[in-house]
Amino acid sequence: MNRIPVGILGATGTVGQRFVQLLADHPWFKPIALAASDRSAGQRYADACHWLLSEPMPEAVTALVVRPIKLSLDCHLVFSALPSDVAGPVEESFAGVGYAVCSNAAAHRMDPDVPLLIPEVNPDHTELIDAQRRRHGGEGFIVTSANCSTTQLAMALKPLHDSFGLRQVSVVTMQAVSGAGYPGLPAMDILDNVIPFIPGEEDKLEQEPLKLLGTLGDGRVTDAAFVVSAQCNRVPIRDGHTECVSVEFEHQPDVGAVKAALREFIGPSRVARLPSSPARPILVRREADRPQAARDRHAQEGMSISVGRVRPCSLLDVKFVVLGHNTLRGAAGGSIHNAELLVDQGWIAR
Ligand code: NAP
Repeated sequence: MNRIPVGILGATGTVGQRFVQLLADHPWFKPIALAASDRSAGQRYADACHWLLSEPMPEAVTALVVRPIKLSLDCHLVFSALPSDVAGPVEESFAGVGYAVCSNAAAHRMDPDVPLLIPEVNPDHTELIDAQRRRHGGEGFIVTSANCSTTQLAMALKPLHDSFGLRQVSVVTMQAVSGAGYPGLPAMDILDNVIPFIPGEEDKLEQEPLKLLGTLGDGRVTDAAFVVSAQCNRVPIRDGHTECVSVEFEHQPDVGAVKAALREFIGPSRVARLPSSPARPILVRREADRPQAARDRHAQEGMSISVGRVRPCSLLDVKFVVLGHNTLRGAAGGSIHNAELLVDQGWIAR
């Protein structure tokens, strides 16, 4: 197929750079418009962007001139990596004039007619797009990816909820500094330290999994009925969020059955064939000291999550540790995966 031209809003930021990196050689999408704030607009991308990734900036984008965020990008699909307060009205405007918007920002995640999407978890929720299109009266729409700490939690919970029914979930996070964007936290705050507060994060982690694992019917999503209690911490790790999770089930399984449900999860077969789908969305580690951020965050190009230490819990039923890459599966990679699903399902024309 010819590659679909796409734009990136917030292309100079932490997540925007991941979009640029992942889209440079993507088989279905071609980045043709990079947009950012007035600080960057008008400069060559190579000059405007403080490149943070270890791999070099893709040659094809270095000379592209950064565009302002205007409704005149020569494409029908845009990826949004804008700060949430900016993203709200901007994404609404793009969708209103006919763009498909795949967003990483929190602004529209909980809107009733906006899909909050992880392809292996709830691919049917794209049907909400019909309701959005009726509201706009046009072809445009917004689809969101989950918060970077929600994504891996929801992926691990999906096979457990399907198999055994979830009642209660307790999660304690250790979140990387790249999750705060660039320049993020001052070194004097985060070095040699753990900060037990990330604004807005606990609410997202308590609410988003319920929508993701909710049931679609009559054009709306009914939230899943379990309860999540979250405690979020920022730790001096560059990339990769680690979470300690305890779960209580409706139908109490043994630990072996929990491990098997996690290990065997692959999601729908059509999703498994998308370009960004990993062979195994969930890798279950057998070692006593894994997963580890430094060693496991890049598993399957950063698109697999890693689960380990699955064992009985003396308060709830079972506890485990889950790790995911926050700017790959948890942000740009997840959003591109969503766009692939939208193309596969026919919501975005090839
Ligand atoms: P970031 O590093 O601060 O980058 C922000 C980007 O938005 C930059 O390109 C910036 O352009 C642009 N921007 C800022 N203010 C703007 C304005 N008023 N008008 C137009 N463009 C503006 O942030 P980030 O970490 O990449 O996060 C981007 C979004 O993804 C946020 O909504 C965040 O919550 C979400 N998210 C982040 C992660 C993560 O791990 N970091 C994970 C999941 C979701 P300039 O360079 O020109 O200022």
